[in-house]
Amino acid sequence: MKYIYILLFFFIGCSTKTNKHEFGIVIHGGAGTISKENMSEDLEKAYKNALKESVMIGYKILKNGGTSQDAVEKTINFLEDSPLFNAGKGAVLNYDREVELDASFMEGKNLNAGAISGSKRIKNPISAAIKVMNSSQHVMLSGNGADSFAEELGMELVDQEYFKTERRVKSLNRTKTIESNKTSSVIEQNYLSEKYGTVGCVALDQYGNLSAGTSTGGMTNKKWNRIGDAPIIGAGTYANNNNCAVSSTGWGEYFIRGVVAYDIAALVEYKNYSIKKAARTVINKIESMGGNGGVIAIDNKGNVAMEMNTSGMYRAHVNSNGEIDIKIYN
Ligand code: ASP
Repeated sequence: MKYIYILLFFFIGCSTKTNKHEFGIVIHGGAGTISKENMSEDLEKAYKNALKESVMIGYKILKNGGTSQDAVEKTINFLEDSPLFNAGKGAVLNYDREVELDASFMEGKNLNAGAISGSKRIKNPISAAIKVMNSSQHVMLSGNGADSFAEELGMELVDQEYFKTERRVKSLNRTKTIESNKTSSVIEQNYLSEKYGTVGCVALDQYGNLSAGTSTGGMTNKKWNRIGDAPIIGAGTYANNNNCAVSSTGWGEYFIRGVVAYDIAALVEYKNYSIKKAARTVINKIESMGGNGGVIAIDNKGNVAMEMNTSGMYRAHVNSNGEIDIKIYN
């Protein structure tokens, strides 16, 4: 009998040691001038429901032993298919009244990455970015080339009309009026919520692997095939198992110049900053440059950060225990 107890203790001890990693997932649906005064109760509810539904898709994948890649992809697919967010269906319109989509994905295990920019036909840009990573020798494909690549791989392509919503048409018209009365360098805070928006997701799976993804329609009224930070590895998206995974949202030009996502990872790795301190430091840097936006990040232990210098950022987090936190305002 004594031996049976000893064996039992040994067994329990071993199984505790092989406990799987903490896991977790964080999403954002864009940062900007989002205030309670300008938000109807119904719209707030719609955003909260969409955030909850999408983050729970990823959480369930992680809980069932799925990979962070799968969790990030499926979560972002939901947000891309929702007309509420500036990604996939519901993306903002450019100067020519068209949708041009950007997305990027990175996995922290081996620093593999993929991105597409300026796509006009890919229904789910984040999935195309992952395909670039897994099924090509490249990291970033753009424009018609990105669309042809996706088509050759049998991905779903759609007409421009699929992406367009009445809300974005109105928003383009308003932006055109405002911008025609300003010099290009002057951008008013109070229409930034209409001009921007993006979706992003970062996740840590039970195997200790981090992934990050970002998908966007970019900036309303953009011209000249403008590309923001979202498809740029190191600016909009970054993941490294040694430190953390990051997805950015905001005024992309500043996030490119500030190399935001990589800068956060570098502070965690080289300066041993907590994820929160690193994210705050970099958002402060963007603010001092004159930019605005927000970031979500998760480190390789499951600690998270959701930092911004705007009045709001659609965001949600679920930890290993299934505890969920959904927020909109700063
Ligand atoms: N960062 C995106 C861009 O500049 C937009 C956003 O995140 O709101 O294209």
